[in-house]
Amino acid sequence: MRFHSLRTRLSLAYALFLLLVVGLGAFSIRQLDDYNRVTAEIRDRWLQSTRILGDLNNDTSDFRAAEGSFLLADTLSERQDSAHEMDSLDASIAHSLVRYQRIRHDDQEDRLYQDFLVHWRSYHRLVKQEQRLPLESGTAIRLYRTDARTAYNRASETLGQLTQWNLVGAKNAVERESATYRDANGWIVAAILTAGLLLFTAIGFITRSVSNPLLDLAKSMQRIADKETEVPIQGVERSDEIGVMARSVQVFRDNARALLTSQARLAEQAKSLEDALAKAQEMTQQQHNFVLMTSHEFRTPLALIDGYAQRLYNARERFGPEEVGERALKIRRATQRLTTLLDSLLDVPKHSAEPPPFHPQPLDIKELLRRLCQEYREMAPDRNFQEHLENLSFFLTGDVELLHQAFGNLLSNAVKYSAPGSSITLEAQDCDGTLVIEISDQGIGIPERDRPHIFERYFRGSNVSSHSGTGVGLTLVNQIITLHHGTLEVASTEEQGSRFTVRFPDPERTSLLT
Ligand code: ADP
Repeated sequence: MRFHSLRTRLSLAYALFLLLVVGLGAFSIRQLDDYNRVTAEIRDRWLQSTRILGDLNNDTSDFRAAEGSFLLADTLSERQDSAHEMDSLDASIAHSLVRYQRIRHDDQEDRLYQDFLVHWRSYHRLVKQEQRLPLESGTAIRLYRTDARTAYNRASETLGQLTQWNLVGAKNAVERESATYRDANGWIVAAILTAGLLLFTAIGFITRSVSNPLLDLAKSMQRIADKETEVPIQGVERSDEIGVMARSVQVFRDNARALLTSQARLAEQAKSLEDALAKAQEMTQQQHNFVLMTSHEFRTPLALIDGYAQRLYNARERFGPEEVGERALKIRRATQRLTTLLDSLLDVPKHSAEPPPFHPQPLDIKELLRRLCQEYREMAPDRNFQEHLENLSFFLTGDVELLHQAFGNLLSNAVKYSAPGSSITLEAQDCDGTLVIEISDQGIGIPERDRPHIFERYFRGSNVSSHSGTGVGLTLVNQIITLHHGTLEVASTEEQGSRFTVRFPDPERTSLLT
């Protein structure tokens, strides 16, 4: 049997309770026995003795009186009555003496009783003697007044002493009874208080060493169930059943912690898989957009080449060699641009987030813009192209192919997002050292909520679903203008048109970048 076992400890506590109850009961019974004994002594000895002695006192004094009546009787019948009374009192006294002797007495009482008996018997003998004497002689009366009186007085005196002794003994017994009652009372109260104290101690012990640890464990398990894995577990060092439970709860907690960690790791892996999937989808989308953009970007120069070739073919009879040469040159330039475009487009996925390759050199921006305008005029004859380049006196240092592509994209958008017959204006001027170029149209405009996003890659306006496009053109324009230290702004009103403004604050400065 292990002493530290909870079962042992609880059994000991129960045994203590049992002992307490039995001990308290036994103790109370013993106290009551004491009290009972003293009460029985009073009832069986002192009360009886007192009653018998009372009877004896009465009967002996009545006997003496009847003796007198007998001697002084006037008639025979009176004497006979007195003799009868004396006989009956004699019998009563004898009965009382027998009853008295049945009671246990102490030595002093016994001695007084024996003295009384001696005196009473000698008095009784004298009375019998009196009754035998002739009454007329007066001897009987004399004996009555002398020897019989003396004998009676001695007996009566001894009986008085015995009665007195008895009363003192009875009084002492009653006092002893009260003292025993008080003692029993005190002892029983003390025993109840001690038992209460022991009970509280036992309850305190059970609460501290059993109930509270169990409640703590229950709380810890609740917290673990609520996924709180840093819960401290109390009582793992105990060697009893609560210690076993605490160590088991600790194992549950560690398992729960490991489970949560692996769940978190799984969630992380799932997240990174999702990210990888999203990236793969984005790349697929980019490739798709690239194919779309390529076909879109190729359409413009191809249309130009086709236009030049058609016009050359239609007017083949009229054109002289000079004209043919000029047209062929235009076709070559358009083809060269197509080649350059092809090269730069093939670079797009590679440089998708980076600026395109930059080769700046001094160039005639006025000439570049005029040529572009002319190209688009020929490509979209149903639009009314207007150019205001008279106030332009700058020579710009920049990449001619990139700038051609940037302004070409702006003009191409102006054509794409406006209706046939509407005007497209290209204006460039010198404003206090800043080269300002504006391209305006009277097209569908850009909704206000879309405007902050139009330079983002792949973004397309919410009102352009009926127009083909990829959402990369303006991104490229913005990159090219930024490469030239310029800025690009847009002002637009829906259904009325848009104006794109390019500013080069220091047109010559880009040369420093080479
Ligand atoms: P897209 O291939 O769609 O034309 P861009 O990058 O060139 O891609 O333009 C991004 C978006 O900006 C367009 O989808 C369109 O909503 C808006 N946008 C650009 N230019 C104009 C314009 N001149 N008029 C109206 N909207 C325009």
